[in-house]
Amino acid sequence: MNRPVVVLGATGSIGRQTLDVAAALGLTVAALAARRPRPELAELAARFPEAVLAVAGGSGEERRRFERAVGREVRWGSDEVVALAALRGATVVNGVVGAAGLAASVVALEAGNRLALANKESLVAGGPVVLEALRSSGGELIPVDSEHSALFQLLGGVERAEVARLVLTASGGPFRGRTAAELAEVTPAEALAHPTWKMGERITIASATLANKGLEVIEAHFLFDMPYDRIDVVVHPQSVVHSLVELVDGAYLAHVGAADMRIPIQYALTYPQRLPTPAAPFDLVGRSFTFEEPDREAFPMLDLAYAAGRAGGSAPAVFNAADEVAVQAFLERRLGFQGIPAVVEATLESIPVRSLDGVEDVVEVDRRAREQAAALVAGAC
Ligand code: MG
Repeated sequence: MNRPVVVLGATGSIGRQTLDVAAALGLTVAALAARRPRPELAELAARFPEAVLAVAGGSGEERRRFERAVGREVRWGSDEVVALAALRGATVVNGVVGAAGLAASVVALEAGNRLALANKESLVAGGPVVLEALRSSGGELIPVDSEHSALFQLLGGVERAEVARLVLTASGGPFRGRTAAELAEVTPAEALAHPTWKMGERITIASATLANKGLEVIEAHFLFDMPYDRIDVVVHPQSVVHSLVELVDGAYLAHVGAADMRIPIQYALTYPQRLPTPAAPFDLVGRSFTFEEPDREAFPMLDLAYAAGRAGGSAPAVFNAADEVAVQAFLERRLGFQGIPAVVEATLESIPVRSLDGVEDVVEVDRRAREQAAALVAGAC
């Protein structure tokens, strides 16, 4: 576990928690990357003075100001961010937001690195491409998403033939229990108030629509090579059971613990070792767990994700890109909450499914889906 750590998306929620865990474990933070040259990244650069820095974007003026603030060399451009994933012998924590994370995931695996994957879009948009990179290299893929970390841990001791199905848990988000009609009026501020997890804006809105759970179903399909009719979702508002595996003899294995992302992050860094947790102690006494069916009518994104997953090829990439565009439009109040599934469904219908042969293919599909979704958003208002 003494591999150097490369953190992509360092200023995001996963990135910051990764840095806390890495510092507590005494791991070397070899590189930090972020999308923008912001003061938050300059602070992290000061905290990890040995880390190589790369930043994808920023204007000329922003870049000059940032270089003065950090007082050391900065590598500029998204290619430089991706290149950090090739650092030999590293654990690459991919906490990039959105489809932009795919190239780094592929490069990390091709370099034979351990990829600690929090960027679920890598697998959703580019599943076949990521799996090919994993197969053809000596790389390792350890999921960081809490549900997939749970499943990865549960499946570790089980023969594949003994698995009946995977059950992903969903908190249900802030709008659990509301009808489709009630959801038409909700605001971005309400949607951003997630009951159990603190995350970035895109994932938080995607949790409110259940699109996030749909992305996770597709992610689980690729990670665990499981057909869609053997992956189910249950709503579990307490977020204490992180996922379950049903075995053929009727037994369930459940992964239970605090809703604290530092636990799956640490596991991805130290696997196969387990070390004492940085999280607060978790007490079982006095807790009750409930499970319920997701409301597929009020939250159509879940079934749209299953349909995209089953269609395969480029369809999950289209689903993801359209959701990113629709969520942004919702946050900017250019689209209502129920406009999100409408835009995603119409985008899926208008782009024919094709196979994906490499990162370039995925980038092209992603671009086309974004254009189409943006046009649909513009037409909707
Ligand atoms: Mg999750």
